[in-house]
Amino acid sequence: MSASIYSPPAELPGFRAGHCPECTQDVLAARDLVENELVEICVHCACNLSRHSPETLRWVEAPDVVELGYFIDGLESESCDSNGGCRDGACGVRQPT
Ligand SMILES: [Zn+2]
Repeated sequence: MSASIYSPPAELPGFRAGHCPECTQDVLAARDLVENELVEICVHCACNLSRHSPETLRWVEAPDVVELGYFIDGLESESCDSNGGCRDGACGVRQPT
């Protein structure tokens, strides 16, 4: 009997987030070209985060993005199962009680 083993990528792709002064909240950042310079902007209002709040720009992982209030397709807490490849606490969804 042959079983194909699903192994998740060693490194999950990260997301960029930062604090938007216009939206007054932490937001996902997108890349944009401004005057031939690659900058990071707010996905909601296009505020230039690289200029206005560069100190808040950081890499976050999928669970952190969900915590910020975004929805990521394929990442659901209901499907989080310690037997299903979600290593202890790695998903950040369940807290030990
Ligand atoms: Zn914004």
